[in-house]
Amino acid sequence: MSGTFTASKTMSGYFSSPFPRRDAVGVAVGNVIVGGDGPVVVQSMTNTDTADVDRTVAQVAALHRAGSELVRITVDRDEAAAAVPKIRERLERVGIFVPLIGDFHYIGHKLLADHPACAEALAKYRINPGNVGFKDKKDKQFAAIIETAIKHDKPVRIGVNWGSLDQELLTHLMDGNQANGSPMTAQEVMREAIVQSALISADLAEEIGLGRDRIILSAKVSQVQDLIAVYTELARRSNHALHLGLTEAGMGTKGIVASSAAMGILLQQGIGDTIRISLTPEPGGDRTREVQVAQELLQTMGFRQFVPVVAACPGCGRTTSTVFQELAQKIEADLRKNMPVWRKKYPGVEGLKVAVMGCIVNGPGESKHADIGISLPGTGETPAAPVFIDGKKAATLRGTAIAEDFEKMVGDYIEKRFARRTAAE
Ligand code: SF4
Repeated sequence: MSGTFTASKTMSGYFSSPFPRRDAVGVAVGNVIVGGDGPVVVQSMTNTDTADVDRTVAQVAALHRAGSELVRITVDRDEAAAAVPKIRERLERVGIFVPLIGDFHYIGHKLLADHPACAEALAKYRINPGNVGFKDKKDKQFAAIIETAIKHDKPVRIGVNWGSLDQELLTHLMDGNQANGSPMTAQEVMREAIVQSALISADLAEEIGLGRDRIILSAKVSQVQDLIAVYTELARRSNHALHLGLTEAGMGTKGIVASSAAMGILLQQGIGDTIRISLTPEPGGDRTREVQVAQELLQTMGFRQFVPVVAACPGCGRTTSTVFQELAQKIEADLRKNMPVWRKKYPGVEGLKVAVMGCIVNGPGESKHADIGISLPGTGETPAAPVFIDGKKAATLRGTAIAEDFEKMVGDYIEKRFARRTAAE
């Protein structure tokens, strides 16, 4: 069941990689393909009250502009379900067609039945088999959601979460394990229960009539080693498209490192068709950070390109000025800010490499490897900054406006190189 990234898979921003990628059944989520020949897709989730149409529209738009290719929203009550078609309409009015995914827990079957316009406006339903219903109602309510998905021709993500794992299944496996001559550890049983919960639910959905090309699986846990083990097993035992995400990853650096470590290892093995970085935002923090981190993860691993790369040296005792740090930060921020427009205006600009270096030691060498690079003067060096374009020295900047002059040169380079390509095409 293994395949490889090849140059023939040339979807936007997708380039060849030597690493084998698991073949997964492709699932169309609105206008985005998850699995199959598609690239690994970036998704995110809002944290607004979905019933608040204005705030939810604004956040979906921000996440999408930051690069989120799918956006999930909570649908937890009637008011939220009633708001979904309004959110869809408002987004489309401003030209945003990003697929919306509805996140349902406990009463999803009822909300989807009572709000057919919501069921239609969503591009996918996410349900958790651990809390879709309890005891004898569980299968009935699960079936009702699957039947609604079939009726509206929507895919479903069966998203197991270890925090709300199907307790009946877990108890059953624990009991069976005790009777086993060489029992597994409690952690191993928990992992097995997560995998089985996802696979049993997927089988049930298929029996009801939902095609495999309408099912995505996820199995979220909060520990890196558990995540790697669970997804490795899911990938081994099925060819369903897989959504990767470390749940409760945490805030800031901890959340970024934990998510990147876990998902990086899985992606390297070719496992994962869509990813979400579940960062807890700082109070008042920017929700789009999770999108940026997901893009950085895929880009640094060489699986996709989203924004030009700015290589900057870390700085050391050879430079006491912060000019190069400020310049690198400003160039990177400007490139990211301009990408929504540039992506259309300058096809291929996401492959640009810019270098901003602090002194003569590695500056000229690193700058020559970039498309355009600058080597700023270190402490005690002549106050001159050579600029290299396509490996050749193109200018030497001097004076107090080095940063502004270099930024202009980057803009001119983009215009010349990428606009010319557009005209040629
Ligand atoms: S390029 Fe110069 S300033 Fe930057 S880390 Fe290397 S030696 Fe230090």
